[in-house]
Amino acid sequence: MNYSVNNEHWLEGEPVVKRDYLAAKNKSKFAANFPDSIIIHFTAGRSGQSSAKYLADPSVKASAHIVIGREGTVYQLAPLDTITWHAGVSSYGGRNNWNEYSIGIELDNAGPLTKAGNEYLSWFGGRYPENEAIYDIHRNENQPRYWHTFTQLQIEACEVVCRAIMAKYAIKSILGHEEISVGRKVDPGPAFPLDKFREQLLTQNRQSGESLEVAPQEGEVITDKLNIREDASVHARLVSSPLAQGQKVTIVDEKNGWYKVKTEIEGWVNKAYVR
Ligand SMILES: [Zn+2]
Repeated sequence: MNYSVNNEHWLEGEPVVKRDYLAAKNKSKFAANFPDSIIIHFTAGRSGQSSAKYLADPSVKASAHIVIGREGTVYQLAPLDTITWHAGVSSYGGRNNWNEYSIGIELDNAGPLTKAGNEYLSWFGGRYPENEAIYDIHRNENQPRYWHTFTQLQIEACEVVCRAIMAKYAIKSILGHEEISVGRKVDPGPAFPLDKFREQLLTQNRQSGESLEVAPQEGEVITDKLNIREDASVHARLVSSPLAQGQKVTIVDEKNGWYKVKTEIEGWVNKAYVR
């Protein structure tokens, strides 16, 4: 499985990305420098094909860029420079209306399930065996309940699609719909390994792109008091009291003018003050 995004903003590669259902209703283009985010969803539907068909329907006021079936089949409904309607009312990180900033990926999944004997039922009457249900607590809830599992093929396809998107657009965040529409949406839910998924993709992306990968090297603090922070930003929390002049550190990473350094503790410091 290998995809890339072409100059017309369509995925290309193997296995073939299906364009059987097109959301021609979506015409507006992203503003310059967008999309910069990917939003992960579940369809709460019957199949990848039925969801792709539904989301492309001109009479339906919802859509998405991509739908991924349980066997890993990828449907693309709209070019990736076009705004689709997957996020709805949304707010996160000081932004509202995330449709204007993000690519929406829908994974075929029935969503929350109810146990009935040794079967598990979806809201639309779908019946699933025990090995397709997990019992887990949603990040926005405090009681466990049953959720339809995602397939390995589907998660792998999602990863390959995200990598292709990230090679074309400057993606800074991968979020769940549940994080930008808290209280209104629960997708993709606890059956999707969202934290691990985005950490893998975004960390690798940063190493190959925005930040220089540095081999560990020794340095020395050359200012009186050097703040050491949890991330490479003056807004990030302080890890400890400042490092003292003359302190020896090991430089393990670099981004945006900051070094990640290690002493007994680890954190980010302004690289101008380390020699
Ligand atoms: Zn959603």
